[in-house]
Amino acid sequence: MSNYAKVILKSGKDQSIRRFHPWIFSGAIKKILGEVKEGDVVHVYDNKDEFLGMGHYQPGSIMVRILSFTEKEPDDKFWFNKLQQAWELRKSLGLISESNNTYRLVHAEGDGLSGLIIDMYNGIAVMQSHSLGMWLIREKLAAMLKELMGDNLKAIYDKSENTLPFMAGADPNNAFLLGDSTEDIAMEYGLKFKVDWLKGQKTGFFVDQRENRKLLEKYSKDRDVLNMFCYTGGFSFYAMRGGANLVHSVDSSARAIDLTRENVELNFPGDKRHDAFAVDAFKYLEDIKDKYDLIILDPPAFAKHKNVLHNALQGYKKLNAKAFEQIRKGGIIFTFSCSQVVTRDMFRKTVFTAAAQSGRFVRILHQLEQPADHPVNIYHPESEYLKGLVLYVE
Ligand code: SAH
Repeated sequence: MSNYAKVILKSGKDQSIRRFHPWIFSGAIKKILGEVKEGDVVHVYDNKDEFLGMGHYQPGSIMVRILSFTEKEPDDKFWFNKLQQAWELRKSLGLISESNNTYRLVHAEGDGLSGLIIDMYNGIAVMQSHSLGMWLIREKLAAMLKELMGDNLKAIYDKSENTLPFMAGADPNNAFLLGDSTEDIAMEYGLKFKVDWLKGQKTGFFVDQRENRKLLEKYSKDRDVLNMFCYTGGFSFYAMRGGANLVHSVDSSARAIDLTRENVELNFPGDKRHDAFAVDAFKYLEDIKDKYDLIILDPPAFAKHKNVLHNALQGYKKLNAKAFEQIRKGGIIFTFSCSQVVTRDMFRKTVFTAAAQSGRFVRILHQLEQPADHPVNIYHPESEYLKGLVLYVE
């Protein structure tokens, strides 16, 4: 008998874990034997006492985040192996170079590390825990990363203040776990941008749009570009490098607009082609008739939960319909959804409805997704969240 608490599943509730899905929902649990508190490692069994997996426990809807489906000790070797696999994969993807030092090192379930996100910005790792279990071992993980990555890693910043779910007595102040750095400029495919770790959203930048931004660059030549929901301006400076005629960046957050201006200035000092506006997207889209021939729509996740799915789909429909109605003839739309609960199929149908409403002839040029450093665990469809379409509008 192990010294871990035993989580026993209800009869029939073992199917998904047998297919390697890493989440155990509260409704699947029959009982828990032994003492358990948030962040503890627990063992999961079916109701016939067969071992199914080992993972971190937390109260809430997802009660266990599975870390291994075989009976392994979560010792130093276990964690080191996981981090090593994540690092080896990133090295093999060919995206770390002189001109690109921005990538996701650990993508939670996509790396078998449910509850942990690590993004790299010019040698600085920004670590974000979504479970107390991961947060409690952050120092250990930090030391292992240093051992693994050597000079590729200069500092590690823990940014879990707003992401830990229950915070059972934890006091997660954002802080450096290793090293220290005031350096805040990172590079993505040769373009510079400032990472706002302290106040920025997520880990400070939307690393997941890297390949899609690169594609946008190819379509930007001589176009009048509108970058909606620009945040720190990622798509804008790619469009500028691609030879856009003009680029307008829009975000409702004044802080985001300041950052966008700063980033454009870093790459294209004094370039008059760019302007940025702090206004609501829906308001801005009221009156853009024939002003643009390339529009990017990259809104925040409209649906964070299944119960607001309907409203979210309405939001995507309305947004896309506005763009279809007003884009110039021969225009191109890059449209995205990063809501996990909106499937690729749902998103496409919603965009189809919006297109039909406008009555214009619309063709799909590309179907976009998250990049390889955000790998999708095939047993965990939820780890696929970013969907996009590139559309040609006659
Ligand atoms: N495209 C960005 C990421 C977008 S994140 C990139 O490549 O980095 C979503 C952004 O939408 C946030 O910056 C948020 O401030 C902005 N936002 C949210 N609601 C908005 C609204 N109603 N109108 C305009 N911007 C909005």
